[in-house]
Amino acid sequence: MQLYALDGDRSVFASDAEKRVNYLCQECFEPLRVKKGHFRHPHFFHLHNHLNKCSLRKKSLIHIQTQLQILSLFPQNTILLEKKFFKIGRIADAVMEKEKRVFEIQCSPISTNEVQNRIQDYESLGYEIFWILHDRTFNRKNLSPAELFLRERGCYFTNINEKGEGIIYDQMERIHFWKRSYTSFPYKVNLRVNHPIFPIKDTSSWIEKRLKLNKSYHEGDLVDRFQKGYLQEKEQKEKKKFSLKEFYRNLLLFIIRK
Ligand SMILES: [Zn+2]
Repeated sequence: MQLYALDGDRSVFASDAEKRVNYLCQECFEPLRVKKGHFRHPHFFHLHNHLNKCSLRKKSLIHIQTQLQILSLFPQNTILLEKKFFKIGRIADAVMEKEKRVFEIQCSPISTNEVQNRIQDYESLGYEIFWILHDRTFNRKNLSPAELFLRERGCYFTNINEKGEGIIYDQMERIHFWKRSYTSFPYKVNLRVNHPIFPIKDTSSWIEKRLKLNKSYHEGDLVDRFQKGYLQEKEQKEKKKFSLKEFYRNLLLFIIRK
């Protein structure tokens, strides 16, 4: 299922589509129809389901609800859903064109190769890609190679359900031999607030990769928490240094005056 379809060369949002009218899928160009009900957000479905390998057809309701929650976070027209990038032949889940940010939601298992290809493709167009892994498949005790790759690089999780309830989050964790031995509480990530990463010289090793491989971070994620903690620590050290300096200056003045 998907949220957008083609009507000629025009892209139509499912809420604006008419029932019993054929539209086309922007990936496989097969006919689509809209489904509108009381309990589900309007969405398109492929009219002929058999043997169609289209990735949009395989999209689940939780995937769509995550896209809609992301859409609801931003002012109108600042974020696009299911945007097609012709040059790389990909359809991104959510895109901020001006800010050059792509949000990629992953609800089903994926290979490391595919993850790397997607990252490379979007980066070749100058986009930064943020992965959001659904915890129905990911964030379990055992990690797949793709999940381990993404956690080291930096990615978020989501628990958004079929009703659209849930959050996008990051977490502290300890991973040993492809297994999670410790997981913190979920730290809610605010995708609206994005900051560029500034280089830090003396980093602890677990965050180093994230700082190196990403250009920016979001409020509430591990990089944000690390940078805030690091800055506070640095500020305190500076304060300490300053007060020691003050102490020696006052001591010197005291001796001179005597
Ligand atoms: Zn399709």
